[in-house]
Amino acid sequence: MNAPGDHPRMRASMNDAPLAPYAAKDETSRGRRFPEPPPATRGEFQRDRDRIIHSNAFRRLVYKTQVFVNHEGDLYRTRLTHSVEVAQIGRSIARALGLHEALTEAICLAHDLGHTPFGHAGQDALNECMRDYGGFEHNMQSLRVVDQLEERYADFDGLNLTYETREGILKHCSAANARTLGDIGERFLQRRQPSLEAQLANLADAIAYNNHDVDDGLRAGLIEVDALRQVALFGRAHDETLAAHPGLGGRRLIHETIRRMIGRVVGDVISASGARIAAAAPQSIEDVRAQPAPLVAMSDAVYAEHIELKRFLHANLYRHSRVLRMTEKSRRVLRELFEALLEDIDLLPAEHRRAAAEAETAGGRAGRARVVADYVAGMTDRFAILEHRRLFDPDARS
Ligand code: MG
Repeated sequence: MNAPGDHPRMRASMNDAPLAPYAAKDETSRGRRFPEPPPATRGEFQRDRDRIIHSNAFRRLVYKTQVFVNHEGDLYRTRLTHSVEVAQIGRSIARALGLHEALTEAICLAHDLGHTPFGHAGQDALNECMRDYGGFEHNMQSLRVVDQLEERYADFDGLNLTYETREGILKHCSAANARTLGDIGERFLQRRQPSLEAQLANLADAIAYNNHDVDDGLRAGLIEVDALRQVALFGRAHDETLAAHPGLGGRRLIHETIRRMIGRVVGDVISASGARIAAAAPQSIEDVRAQPAPLVAMSDAVYAEHIELKRFLHANLYRHSRVLRMTEKSRRVLRELFEALLEDIDLLPAEHRRAAAEAETAGGRAGRARVVADYVAGMTDRFAILEHRRLFDPDARS
């Protein structure tokens, strides 16, 4: 009798829709770092996605900031709900382009696993702390989480994901870092492209945050509808909504506007990428990797609108005094945590202390600093705040 995975119908159902020739395929995956038998009832990329969902780092995303710190309100995006929205957008486009949905989803769900607490303020602060020790980059850290830091399986460290998922997680990387990463770093040195699924996950991230940050910014009262109406993407969608539903107001008007904005950009990515793919006519994922530029992209016109909105959010939301105040506090918390723990590794929990001592023996102070950075990066917002209080507030109970 055939194993379930050998059943032809089962194989056909590994992806929900037919795969284009240029899509990633379970059967032609470059494989895992530690070879494992193929999954019986799932595809290789489905297994990757499932391992990501079961990881500790994934669960921690619920208590990590996207823009608003977790305790500011229950309705704001966290890094977990952000990742789920990225995956939703990614899958919709993947299906329309004949790309592998499970691989796209796996990359989208994993893309922020290495993010520090407190969003970009946290990443910048930790990068600063690590300046003399190789720096800190959340993208590299996401790969480090799935390759090394998760401790779940008997036979290997990390999640032992496929090459294709790892390739997608590592969005960008300096040449110096690329040289330390083996096969996964090669494309940055040879200027090759990643899979279309990886290109798509990258774009889905940008589409998701641009749109949900409009929603969260309005909800928080930090940006105004009147100002946003000057931004083409928002203004047009707002007009269209009011034309279709005169008199509509409040949250429904905002939601109807934002769903039109997402619809416009997603529709554009599908048609513009479809045209680029047709023109380049790649016959395989290797053809995709050999292209001089990404094939999944917005049209020039919509990209200009996307950038206009991004600039608006940068100037009016990310640099709003209320957000900056939180940013400043977060930087200080992370910097002080890092410095205290690096100075005295006895303050670390036992297993991290052991790891720091071993890393120092092998790699000097940079090795020790990396273990401290791993520990701090893994913290949720609230754990970082609590730990900071325990270390610095004489009245706090340990
Ligand atoms: Mg993201």
